Amino acid sequence: MGSKSGRHFLQIPGPTNVPDRILRSLSRPTIDHRGPEFARITREAIEGLQRVFQTSGAVVIYPSSGSGAWEAALVNTLSPGDKVLMFETGYFATLWRNIAVRLGLQVDFVPGDWRCGVDPDLVQTKLADDRGRAIKAVAIVHNETSTGVTSRVADVRRRMNDTGHPALLMVDTISSLASIDFRHDEWGVDVTVGCSQKGLMLPPGLGFNAISDKALAASKSARLPRAYWDWEPMLKENEAGFFPYTPATNLLYGLREAICMLQEEGLPSVFARHTRHAEATRRAVNGWGLQLVALNPAEYSSSVTGVMMPEGHDADALRRVILDRFNMSLGTGLGKWKGKIFRVGHLGDFNDLMLAGTLSGLEMGFAVSGVPFKRGGVTAGLEYLSGH
Ligand SMILES: *Cc1c(COP(=O)(O)O)cnc(C)c1O
Repeated sequence: MGSKSGRHFLQIPGPTNVPDRILRSLSRPTIDHRGPEFARITREAIEGLQRVFQTSGAVVIYPSSGSGAWEAALVNTLSPGDKVLMFETGYFATLWRNIAVRLGLQVDFVPGDWRCGVDPDLVQTKLADDRGRAIKAVAIVHNETSTGVTSRVADVRRRMNDTGHPALLMVDTISSLASIDFRHDEWGVDVTVGCSQKGLMLPPGLGFNAISDKALAASKSARLPRAYWDWEPMLKENEAGFFPYTPATNLLYGLREAICMLQEEGLPSVFARHTRHAEATRRAVNGWGLQLVALNPAEYSSSVTGVMMPEGHDADALRRVILDRFNMSLGTGLGKWKGKIFRVGHLGDFNDLMLAGTLSGLEMGFAVSGVPFKRGGVTAGLEYLSGH
């Protein structure tokens, strides 16, 4: 492989492009994580994350991938054999379900077609039918990265409240946090799961839980074994600005910088930027005569767009051509969508011309690969960008 000139386009839906400002912050010397300077970094990181999660409650930071934060949400709040209600919205919902099953939880996994989000009506019915209050938690994925479908979390919460059922609500916001509006406190979420490498524009390596008082109370009597993921020593050490074990020091520098950047732009503007880029992307897809994976316009994702390949054409062959010819990485189809869809990540550190380049790479890729498409997708995307 020869070296390639110009910037690589990393248009997978995470890890996302890491801005230079963050890369520079990561390169500062590592310091003593038990020394006096460190406490301030910890506090700033936690306070910043509270603003991003839109919570005044506890937030913990693990040196982990997002999967670790999934496990942490479950082991801190539940006991062996507890019943959990989950929805098969796609690949990531399925992975979280697998973790729950391996931990010895009893999962009611509502089947889905990987093209729709969580049905709030169904949440209500399931909880209303659960007269014995056996369900201890409802665990859903806010933005299903494998399909480009966003579930309506606030509606799900309202329906839960309508039943008066005491189950906890856990939400995976790994590919929506800092890209799509999410309100931990206002929406009454008990545990929110996040991580560093998507909307927060950081490299992989940090996992987060935002925790409600109700979830904290549940953790006092929860009996699943926990050690590394235990909230209690983490929250205790965090009070003084420290951690029970070595944190990912340099990633915390990056986190502080990421939060500064988000604040400078303003979270509402960050969300509006993602909404706009997603709409331009969909206009391009429509212009090409291709189909979205997402079926319901109310559930279109602002951070990632899943696109169906025309029958008889392999999405991964197209991705390979686009990588070789145009130095751009697109998201592969995961699980049952392998080869059948590709995904365009338009989240994190991203602007109009990066989107224009991304759409152009796709349109050229279709032509080079012999994928049937209508000309004009790029034009439709650019027209939207220049007009809005
Ligand atoms: C990326 C992603 C994950 C997995 O996170 P890892 O860091 O790979 O463990 C989980 N859920 C969603 C919705 C994701 O997008």
